Amino acid sequence: EMAEEEAKRAEAAKKALKEKEYAPVPPEWVLQPAISQGGLAEKFRVGRCIGKGGFAMCYEGELRNKIQGHDRKIFALKVVKSKMSQKKMEEKFRTELQIHAKMRHPNIVEFHRAFTFKESTYVVLELCSNGSIMDMVKKRRCLTLPEVRRYTIQLCGAIKYMHARNVIHRDLKMGNLFLDREMNLKIGDFGLAAVLVSTEEYQLGLYENAKKRRTTLCGTPNYIAPEILEKAKGGHDYKVDIWAIGVIVFAMLAGQPPFQSSSQNEIYRKARNLEYDWPQKDRHLNDIPEEAKDLVAQLLKVEAEERPDADEVVGHPFFSMHGGNAMPLIMDESFTREIP
Ligand code: ADP
Repeated sequence: EMAEEEAKRAEAAKKALKEKEYAPVPPEWVLQPAISQGGLAEKFRVGRCIGKGGFAMCYEGELRNKIQGHDRKIFALKVVKSKMSQKKMEEKFRTELQIHAKMRHPNIVEFHRAFTFKESTYVVLELCSNGSIMDMVKKRRCLTLPEVRRYTIQLCGAIKYMHARNVIHRDLKMGNLFLDREMNLKIGDFGLAAVLVSTEEYQLGLYENAKKRRTTLCGTPNYIAPEILEKAKGGHDYKVDIWAIGVIVFAMLAGQPPFQSSSQNEIYRKARNLEYDWPQKDRHLNDIPEEAKDLVAQLLKVEAEERPDADEVVGHPFFSMHGGNAMPLIMDESFTREIP
């Protein structure tokens, strides 16, 4: 049965390669060239395919360090073609790596390293073996209140950490929230993340990747209007993540996103008008308490500055009602850890 599964995956990977120009993967050993920590070259064995994204194939990768002997360590190995057909994509990917590599938090997929081998770039990440929140909601239709509390608290911990370092994620969604073996939430995929910088920092030429991102988003650097930078300085840009948390919390409770619709314009229209309905209780669904509904209402404010920050979210009564039963987790370390 396992072999059959494996064969199916291999077939799917092959098909994906054909269709989308994914990077070819050597079947067995990959030796990391050049950079090596403490004189050790790391050897990865590429294992089964665990997923594919817009431009990456993801494999299980086993780190086999000769010197460490039989210390088997499994990672997620994201493989991307080094030379992409579009320069823009290459730049975007570089930004993603630069930002992700600086993030270190229990609820952010750990970035181990990235290297180039032959034609491909390999990104070695913490393996999240339990899929994503999206998979879970699809399978179960909705999550229990203790689960929703746990994941929201963990998500807010990571977002607090990111925002304190001027990083906005900008692409938070259930499919980007992975789960590790212990069912801890881990934010993955920094494909749209950006670093907000102050005007002075920008002029000093610090934060190369932020500069690049702004130029790709806003046109030629010489012509960037001051208010774009001003906005970055004191603005509420990072509150886009808080809105996304609102959508996620709603979807975890209700089984589908609040503004679900067949057309994009309709989704935008509904969102602008805050047109969403909580589902009627049926045998599949939670009895959704008023506290949860109020929390979502606070998160989904059209005016960005009215949305709470991560700390305020976790301070909401939803998390303390009835003794605040959350699926057990350690909140102190992940949530209050000092920002270096
Ligand atoms: P892309 O950035 O190209 O969209 P993703 O980061 O979404 O690629 O990865 C594609 C798929 O690989 C995901 O949907 C998921 O199934 C799997 N995946 C990605 N990162 C991990 C990880 N750290 N652990 C386990 N699976 C992962």
